[in-house]
Amino acid sequence: MAGFYAVHHGPDGLEAIARRLLSLRAALVAGLEALALPVLSGQGFDTVWLPLPPDQAEVLVAAALAAGFNLHQAEDGVGISLDELSSAEELERLLRALAGCAGPWHELGNSPPAGRAMPLRQQPWLRQSVFHRYRSETELLRYIQRLSAKDLSLVHGMIPLGSCTMKLNAAAELAPVSWPAFSQLHPFAPAEQAAGYQLLAADLERWLALITGFAGVSLQPNAGSQGEYAGLLAIRAWHRSQGDAHRTVCLIPTSAHGTNPASAVMAGLQVVAVACDEAGNIDLADLEAKAAAHAEQLAALMVTYPSTHGVFEPAIRRICELVHARGGQVYLDGANLNAQVGLCKPGLYGADVCHLNLHKTFCIPHGGGGPGVGPIAVASHLLPFLPGAPGQAGGVGPVAAAPLGSASILAISWMYIRMMGGAGLRQASQVALLAANLLAERLEPHFPVLYRGAGGRVAHECILDLRPLKRSCGLEVDDLAKRLMDYGFHAPTVSWPVAGTVMVEPTESESLAELDRFCAAMVAIRQEAAALEAGSADPLNNPLKRAPHTLAAVTADHWDRPYTRQQAAFPAGEDQRQAKFWPAVARIDNAYGDRNLVCTCPSMEELAGQELAEQELAQVVPAATVH
Ligand SMILES: *Cc1c(COP(=O)(O)O)cnc(C)c1O
Repeated sequence: MAGFYAVHHGPDGLEAIARRLLSLRAALVAGLEALALPVLSGQGFDTVWLPLPPDQAEVLVAAALAAGFNLHQAEDGVGISLDELSSAEELERLLRALAGCAGPWHELGNSPPAGRAMPLRQQPWLRQSVFHRYRSETELLRYIQRLSAKDLSLVHGMIPLGSCTMKLNAAAELAPVSWPAFSQLHPFAPAEQAAGYQLLAADLERWLALITGFAGVSLQPNAGSQGEYAGLLAIRAWHRSQGDAHRTVCLIPTSAHGTNPASAVMAGLQVVAVACDEAGNIDLADLEAKAAAHAEQLAALMVTYPSTHGVFEPAIRRICELVHARGGQVYLDGANLNAQVGLCKPGLYGADVCHLNLHKTFCIPHGGGGPGVGPIAVASHLLPFLPGAPGQAGGVGPVAAAPLGSASILAISWMYIRMMGGAGLRQASQVALLAANLLAERLEPHFPVLYRGAGGRVAHECILDLRPLKRSCGLEVDDLAKRLMDYGFHAPTVSWPVAGTVMVEPTESESLAELDRFCAAMVAIRQEAAALEAGSADPLNNPLKRAPHTLAAVTADHWDRPYTRQQAAFPAGEDQRQAKFWPAVARIDNAYGDRNLVCTCPSMEELAGQELAEQELAQVVPAATVH
């Protein structure tokens, strides 16, 4: 949104906004000074600062509030900020309100010189064509649509990304986000103006505590990873309160999500890896040995349940007991809560703290890394160590800039839980488990399922092993991932947590028909691989290795591949033609791209050339006409 804001306005539009803001601010400064209010000197852009003692600040803020304005009151004064929605008429109303209580400040006398305007930048900026092309709403709309057409999203088909829980983000859940009552409230609006948000947050905290079996919840963390960080800070603070500041070792199984060790290091902990056994579970003997070896320093174990291997770890209670016996706390990574809601509760099988990803289990959209919410739920002994409000002293302090983190999207999860109800949430977990097991059973004859739980079942996702196919015909996970686009599917999670495998998570949102379609595509791809195994297809020039197929390639006058255009573009057959997704580019070498960054801005040489041209222009054209 911020990017499109700049694209739409371009440098001249942004400069016009800035100029208007500067003149509004100058008018405000002049008005405040005419009232003999003290204004902090120096350059400013959109904010005016009035250094006032607290009692006088209070009078001023109250007078503004009575006229419908929230001013920023801090220990050392009052701040007034303007933006492009501010108007001269508003300034006049504000100044009139403040004039009513201007009297006492005349005594402060020698008010410093007025704040001067911040100079605007002189050098040309935002020169790229994208900042000059889309000035009408129609043009911008089409540009956005063209970009979104390059994305394979949930509007095309199932996104079976394991560990990401790409479920439906229902329209009814999303609707409140755009209501002004939610979208136009400042995160630091006075509490009495935010009663609705407080109710929403209180409901959610209560519901999430019920769902997880914990005593309390903080909604502040903006992502699962930030929840991990906040949860580990709580654990550290608790250890400190017990006189155990030296407990700084964090045990993490090798199957953990990469955010776990990263968060542990951020929280000042030292990571010790714990092995997994053949069945994908935590190696209990290794856990016992590591916990014993580090018993004096043990701070915590981070464990994911069900594990990232897609199975319910049967020894979870024993694991928690083992860590507690050595004085450590158990951090449960709850990213896989979609397998548990309404069925089991982390608080009941021994964890001390866990995070939830509202942008996975509780329906907040998270394609493209948009804003997330990673609340933490804690047992009662950790309640005093939940993240505090920004600016508040003591405790572990805040982990986000706003008291409720990404507050405006909490409404999505509130709607989800409220509309589903307890029975609906439990059914969602059951259907998610059922769908994953359906895929595991259907696909097992074609792609072996790597890990299964004690009862022979998987959890809400499963890992399909492609390594045998790599050995038999050179098929790589990337080949399957790219070919799925031709069948109209997003790739599953590739090579994580086990290299050479894919992890598939259907969620409860997919219909049986869509699951059937996915299985059919996977089986068809397996048959394409069989042609490679049999030697009847070229090992490099075949539909798998050359997937995905673009419109340009398929419609080119020249076609020199040993398979047909129909096979390339419509492998699922006549009646599935509409499913074909047309990617913007064909196969790219991901690893090469990751290591060889290309800057798409104009090169320094080009920029230097442009500046030179402008200098030359300035010599022949009168300066006033050069911008
Ligand atoms: C997604 C995920 C995380 C990280 O959550 P973010 O919200 O992406 O920071 C951590 N652990 C597991 C198992 C996950 O799937």
